[in-house]
Amino acid sequence: MKCEYLGTMRNKECPSISIVVPVYNEGDSIPIFLDAMSLELSDIDNDIEILFVDDGSSDSTLKNILQTIPVCEFANIRCVSLSRNFGKEAAVSAGLNQAVGDVVIPMDVDLQDPPSLIKEFLIKWADGYDVIYGLRVSRSTDGVAKKVTSNWFYKLFNRVSPVKIPENAGDFRLMDRRVVDVVNQLPERTRFMKGLFAWVGFRTCSVPFDRIERASGNSKWSYWKLWNFALDGITSFSTIPLRVWTYIGSLLALGAFLYMLFIVFLAIFFDIDAPGYASIMTIMLFLGGIQLITLGIIGEYIGRLFIESKKRPIYIVDQIYDSNNVD
Ligand code: UDP
Ligand code: MG
Repeated sequence: MKCEYLGTMRNKECPSISIVVPVYNEGDSIPIFLDAMSLELSDIDNDIEILFVDDGSSDSTLKNILQTIPVCEFANIRCVSLSRNFGKEAAVSAGLNQAVGDVVIPMDVDLQDPPSLIKEFLIKWADGYDVIYGLRVSRSTDGVAKKVTSNWFYKLFNRVSPVKIPENAGDFRLMDRRVVDVVNQLPERTRFMKGLFAWVGFRTCSVPFDRIERASGNSKWSYWKLWNFALDGITSFSTIPLRVWTYIGSLLALGAFLYMLFIVFLAIFFDIDAPGYASIMTIMLFLGGIQLITLGIIGEYIGRLFIESKKRPIYIVDQIYDSNNVD
């Protein structure tokens, strides 16, 4: 694909491309990833930058990346190494801040995001779209439990959040420079990237793809991490969990008031005493439970306010490597 075929809607026909790749203990994946990328991208004219973000790996990841910097022919490889493991969202933020391309593509190193989609993204970009995201049409690599829970998560998120995120879209997407600049300006420390990407808007479309197994290594996500990720997502984008209790509380109070009238009515007109211990205990425990849940939810938000208010940086760069300081 030569650049002349691109760019009917754009001033710039041959955008420079930054591919942002967060990596955490992925030593074995680096060469496999670069081979696949070279196969896919050697024939395009665009300037390509592959920007690895080493998220505090403790294996051979950084060494393997540095080895490729002087020898890679199809792309200019750079590496931002962070001072410790900050998590994928922070690593992607670091990459977006450092990337210089006209278009930026965050991508996993395990080839679960197929490199062949990049050319399709570029064609859509040339058509005038600013954000083109990959849509996972099959999740055959995920177990039933993961499919069901992620489905619930998207349904719940989109119900409670005013900003909708597309179901089954990951971080793999092409973004125009304008979009990246806006995302970089967002100051929050809780980086729920899917939500932030959706929040900024711009002309958006999707390209479907099949998600395959990891090329090597294991997923870094446990269920506990996914649960916390989901909590981060919902609490960053919606205040409904805080507000819903006003309505639940009002309904319960109304029910209690009506019940009280009923009991007083029975006592006055029919001389019937309401028998007590069991019913009072159940109601008290029920209400106590609801109050604790509410407190817990308020706590979730206060905890996040506390973290935001400290204004610590999202990540810390240890060093940036490129062809100028690695040979
Ligand atoms: N990753 C990272 N920091 C972390 C965990 C993961 O930079 O703390 C990177 C990882 O190396 C990979 C990408 O994020 O390139 C996606 O991770 P993974 O494949 O484990 O996630 P999954 O595909 O299972 O969602
Ligand atoms: Mg993966």
